[in-house]
Amino acid sequence: MRIGVFCSGGDAPGMNACVRAVVRRAISSGHEVVGIQRGYQGLLDEDFYLNADREPRMRLRTVSGWSRQGGARLRSSRCPAFRTEEGLAKAAGILDKHGIDALIPIGGDGTFRGAVDLLRHWDGRVVGCPGTIDNDLIGTDFTIGFSTAVQTAVEAVDKIRDTAESHERMFLVEVMGRHSGYIALYTALACGAEGVCIPETFTDVGSIAEQLKVLEQRGKTSVMIIVAEGDERGGAAALQRALNELGQPSATRVVVLGHLQRGGCPSPEDRILASRLGDFAVTALREGASGVMAGVSAGINSLTPLQDTFTLHKELPAELLELLETLAM
Ligand code: ADP
Repeated sequence: MRIGVFCSGGDAPGMNACVRAVVRRAISSGHEVVGIQRGYQGLLDEDFYLNADREPRMRLRTVSGWSRQGGARLRSSRCPAFRTEEGLAKAAGILDKHGIDALIPIGGDGTFRGAVDLLRHWDGRVVGCPGTIDNDLIGTDFTIGFSTAVQTAVEAVDKIRDTAESHERMFLVEVMGRHSGYIALYTALACGAEGVCIPETFTDVGSIAEQLKVLEQRGKTSVMIIVAEGDERGGAAALQRALNELGQPSATRVVVLGHLQRGGCPSPEDRILASRLGDFAVTALREGASGVMAGVSAGINSLTPLQDTFTLHKELPAELLELLETLAM
């Protein structure tokens, strides 16, 4: 089998560890791996990762040290052309031309949509690996990159708390998550934040203002509210404006963590998850699987139809939301 592997969409720490596992598992079981650079755009451009002999074939040593490296060594991209029938047909032709039998895309729901569309034009097989910091994919407890992103956000919020305490201030810290509150909720829990605003729940500014008064009466000297960028009110700046309109003190500060959360060395959890999933994706392909995503749920490797990853919403654990509320006293 000749397997094409690539990273697509938003980059996530751990993607390199996943590529490494794909390469090592595939080669050790007698298969070949072609690294496709810059996601679907690189596929359309026939932009392959070249080894030391300028051949488009990854070797065992090509991926030395990749498990600890942040970013995407194969690079990533967003590719509008892949959303067109012409683009998909062209990609299918290129895969056939290069004798690629199977693909392992590492990405999020957009990437998997693209893969499902491609399978309408192409006769090969696809097993995806969930690579996104948002943890917004069903079929796996955690996605590659989520653990590192939360770790980065927690380190940042801990530092902000120090200055918040010194000046007795309230901070609204915006974290990533356009459609999902996972990063916000996990960061809030880990940091002992006083509140979280996420797309999954209604953000009631009136009750936040009331709650802030109660906390002040109880002697709270600093307040941290973690806001997901995709909160229906529009993020931390919008929340600050709404709170100001309700008479909250203007000493409230907004910090947007932004792309900081995408970078850095992957956490041990992400390295291990990525290694497991890359290895499992190759095994699944060898056993004939296609149109599915490799995941780990409750410690067990599992396959989920790619279609489900972009049609079904991953629920936030309600008990964690309740826990945050209980502890933010
Ligand atoms: P992620 O995979 O992180 O969700 P994107 O949503 O940007 O990131 O998707 C990555 C790429 O997948 C897009 O740039 C595009 O090339 C491809 N893609 C996304 N949606 C579709 C679609 N509906 N049809 C075909 N390709 C798509």
